[in-house]
Amino acid sequence: MPHIATTNPATGQVLKTYEAMSTEQLDGAIERTDLAYQQLRTTTVDQRARWMTVAADLLDAERDEIARIMTTEMGKTYASAQAEVTKCATSARFYADRAPGFLADEPADADAVKATRAFIRYQPIGVVLAVMPWNFPLWQVMRFAAPALMAGNTGLLKHASNVPQTALLLEDVFRRAGFPEGAFTTVLVGSDAVETILADPRVRAATLTGSESAGRSIAQIAGRELKKTVLELGGSDPFVVMPSADVDRAAEVATTARCQNNGQSCIAAKRFIVHTDVFDAFAERFAANMAALRVGDPMDPDTDVGPLASERGRDEVHAQVRDAVDNGATVLCGGELPTGDGWFYPPTVVTDLTPTMRMWSEEVFGPVAGLFRVSSYEEAIEVANGTSFGLGSNAWTRDPAEQERFATDLDAGNVFINGMTTSYPELPFGGVKNSGYGRELSALGMREFCNTKTVWVGEGAASAGAGAHAE
Ligand code: NAP
Repeated sequence: MPHIATTNPATGQVLKTYEAMSTEQLDGAIERTDLAYQQLRTTTVDQRARWMTVAADLLDAERDEIARIMTTEMGKTYASAQAEVTKCATSARFYADRAPGFLADEPADADAVKATRAFIRYQPIGVVLAVMPWNFPLWQVMRFAAPALMAGNTGLLKHASNVPQTALLLEDVFRRAGFPEGAFTTVLVGSDAVETILADPRVRAATLTGSESAGRSIAQIAGRELKKTVLELGGSDPFVVMPSADVDRAAEVATTARCQNNGQSCIAAKRFIVHTDVFDAFAERFAANMAALRVGDPMDPDTDVGPLASERGRDEVHAQVRDAVDNGATVLCGGELPTGDGWFYPPTVVTDLTPTMRMWSEEVFGPVAGLFRVSSYEEAIEVANGTSFGLGSNAWTRDPAEQERFATDLDAGNVFINGMTTSYPELPFGGVKNSGYGRELSALGMREFCNTKTVWVGEGAASAGAGAHAE
């Protein structure tokens, strides 16, 4: 049986457990979500926007309680949980405001295709399964749910097994906002149920945010079932610092970029690739900043870094650090496993890494930075691109020509120059290589789960399509 439970990572205490849904209950949930689709698809985008705006208002009004639940379930600091709720409300409003434009018919060149009228119409496709991770338990879901519901699709959420309360409260928010019963349904099941759900003919597509192994498994099932997927997987983002950079500022932002969300973000900078001319200055400031972060109770407003979400996750991070140290790497700060309750881990900086060490090529999902010394732009690009991932990337340089080069040469889904990678509803988000495919957010994210329908209108039966290649 899957273990679906709220366990406080700051204490290790199990606070609430849930039974996984039976086969019949799961079937009923899929049925409700499909029936809701038949209803939602006939509503106007303006009606859906009104409901989405109410959902945003509810999130704002209930921010503190939702944030407390998130912190209790996965250990992020309370302040960051509050900010996450606010971001979700803002993004819900963004899609409520912008969806009418994103979904409007798009005229095409009618003359070129020998039509009197030709255009593209964006329509919903049906029930979309969302398999989501615990690290941003509200935001990861909202960035799928807001565009999907606004497009007229319905959502079936299989959330990570350690955040059931957050999963259920979001279902409740959409219901209270006025969306039809079943338009957004949470199913309390383990990952072993994903194959059954995805194979169900009532489910049309899936989006996963999670690990590479989950991505491979879902893509395989979806391939067999011929269903569209969007995959947002892991990352080991480079953070390159060049000689012209503002080193103090880079070291300050690097600390946040690595330790945000207790170091458990897919787009956290994880590999710090620093030009030898500024390496010592950067390393000294960065390690000092990292060592100065306060680790502790995530509900305490003075805490910078809370616990990792699970004991297994912390063990994994420590094993990666030990592997590096045992093979000759140097620890500039941190690296010691704390004693006592809770799954805390100190902000850690490791340097003198070599390609055979796990930290060279693996994603480290905790507050641990790998620091690399390079002696040229070319070497910086080689190290930055030298992983199987390609999610985010950061480059620090005040040289405009170099900024242009980084924008082109970094092999990633985004490049942030003189700043850290962040997601915005206005900008597309996603990766290349083993970081996944497809895009979330912006108009592109909404259209991933739309039927992009070509509509061609001729003058009459006799002339329609004349001379054209009809598919
Ligand atoms: P995970 O183990 O892959 O879990 C994510 C979700 O997938 C959970 O709901 C999980 O269910 C489910 N799952 C796990 N294995 C599965 C399988 N074989 N088939 C179907 N579903 C499966 O990932 P995680 O450890 O929670 O999250 C960390 C990973 O997510 C990191 O690699 C991180 O970089 C990545 N991530 C990526 C993004 C992005 O936008 N690219 C954002 C955040 C996180 P259970 O909980 O029931 O196991």
